[in-house]
Amino acid sequence: MCGIVGYTGKQQAAPILLDGLSKLEYRGYDSAGVAVRNSSGKHEVVKTNGRLGVLSDMLDGGKALKGVCGIGHTRWATHGMPSEANAHPHFNDDRSVVAVHNGIIENYGALKDKLTSKGYTFYSETDTEIATKLVDYYYKKWNDPIEAMVSFSLRVRGSYAMAVMFEDYPEEIFIARKDSPLIVGITGDETFLASDVPAILKYTRNIYYVDNMEIARLEKGKATFYNVDKKVITKKSVKIDWDVEAAEKGGYAHFMLKEMHEQPEVVANTLNAFIKNGKINLSEGGLTDEHLKSIGNIQIAACGSAYHVGVAAKYVIEDLARVPVNVDVASEFRYRNPIFGSNDLLIVISQSGETADTLAALREAKGRGVKTLAVVNVLGSSIAREADAALYTKAGPEISVATTKAYSAQLIVAYLVAVQLAFVRGTIDGERYKNLIAQLQTIPAEIKKLLDCDEKLKWFATKISNKKDVFFIGRGIDYAICLEGSLKLKEISYIHSEAYAAGELKHGTISLIEDDTLVIGVVTQMQLAEKSVSNLIEVEARGAYIMSVTVNGNYAIEKQSKLTLYIPNIDPCFTASLAVIPLQLLSYYVGVARGLDVDKPRNLAKCVAVE
Ligand code: GLU
Repeated sequence: MCGIVGYTGKQQAAPILLDGLSKLEYRGYDSAGVAVRNSSGKHEVVKTNGRLGVLSDMLDGGKALKGVCGIGHTRWATHGMPSEANAHPHFNDDRSVVAVHNGIIENYGALKDKLTSKGYTFYSETDTEIATKLVDYYYKKWNDPIEAMVSFSLRVRGSYAMAVMFEDYPEEIFIARKDSPLIVGITGDETFLASDVPAILKYTRNIYYVDNMEIARLEKGKATFYNVDKKVITKKSVKIDWDVEAAEKGGYAHFMLKEMHEQPEVVANTLNAFIKNGKINLSEGGLTDEHLKSIGNIQIAACGSAYHVGVAAKYVIEDLARVPVNVDVASEFRYRNPIFGSNDLLIVISQSGETADTLAALREAKGRGVKTLAVVNVLGSSIAREADAALYTKAGPEISVATTKAYSAQLIVAYLVAVQLAFVRGTIDGERYKNLIAQLQTIPAEIKKLLDCDEKLKWFATKISNKKDVFFIGRGIDYAICLEGSLKLKEISYIHSEAYAAGELKHGTISLIEDDTLVIGVVTQMQLAEKSVSNLIEVEARGAYIMSVTVNGNYAIEKQSKLTLYIPNIDPCFTASLAVIPLQLLSYYVGVARGLDVDKPRNLAKCVAVE
């Protein structure tokens, strides 16, 4: 998420900061700002809502702000709407401490209470202002910037790349990092700081990667790294031999591949945002347990992959919470004169929060007095603002048009709603509740393992890259997974594919199965496995070439399959999160094998803000 830059040296800082931020634009942002130390030793802060071009105009390309040391930031809002006040840099009352931050401070509420009790007041809604004032607090306490950064690192929970300037330390920048990227580059008597290599590649190719729980003091042409015991650590620089475009993708060939590999992190971030002390808490998003108890039926409206999350959610919510769920594509829902009961809840799901059809569905329901809940990735988006409650996925900006990490984060929110709904309505007991939460927490590591074993899929993708038609079949949640697997393949490879509820195939579509037609069977719901395997046998008898995705232990399926991929055992309610990974990878490798631009498939747009 977002971008950080910093500079201390002999040149004017502001133009370098603006240039560096422009190289990080690909990361996505909604507001921007810089802070530069002027010749009187004071920090000047300029920030704005909106594009970097606006900031650059305000600063006359950087010329309007004089000084040779500064920090800059492009913000992708997670706490507090995009606005000038919420934009970074943030500062203490007299601006003697200014900071930029990338990431999420999870315990910001407790820290705010602590700082308030010490007399601090707050001008923004961000976790970053709290983080900045926490550094200020420790700095005043210890009178030592390294000690302040150490205490900060030990006190906060969550992710951060933090860069701070202290008025008492002219032309120095202090940094700390955990789970959000941060790099340092040094050339001659200049030192650069950034979230990612492209921002500083034009000045230096010698890069120091700051590791988790490390702190550094940056001076002109010098960086001293410390661990949290305040011991100096020696780091080796890495020589970057990629070009700028490859660097933006962090060494991955495409944004889609990079974003697939970010899934363990975004799933963990999304879980951490809502699971506190072993319990699910959705009330910060406006969905209280009281409200969950009183819900009548649930309607879900969404488009594309978000609709597929809705289909999976229907199975999980109905199974766990015994609440009837109706799922609709938003473009149908908005015009079909839907029927609502008095306590119904409409859930809309959208990555961008601007999807026109989904927004219209939301307005339709609100107009009829129905309570609405948004599952959305972009803070302050239209859907997030207009819904009665909003649960944010913590996927960060997604660049690849075909979604992967936002889909995975949406699934997690759907599970959290289902589990909490079931618990407060008494359809699962405390034991099962605890067990389901524990299982949810295993998902990030399991996704990572699946991502790391993609060799077979690469091989298989080249074998099938010339197929004309593909069918994905599955039952129950497996059908929901098939819908997403099939859409991914269509989007990325332009191969015609269809997802079918496995039992439905024989009611017509089976006529299309002929010699060598690829059928991908998803069989993760073991109570339905025999039925699904029978359907695979039916297509095998008609010449189909079969690949299957199933759970560890279901080895019998290998009899029918040319390739079988296994996912680890997990509660059947959550298999979509794991089974979708090989299907995403398969689509990606097929697209690559066909020489296509997988990040920007033809005819598609990332955010469909038109009807
Ligand atoms: N959580 C911080 C905010 O909402 C930082 C977001 C970012 O990484 O851009 O301001």
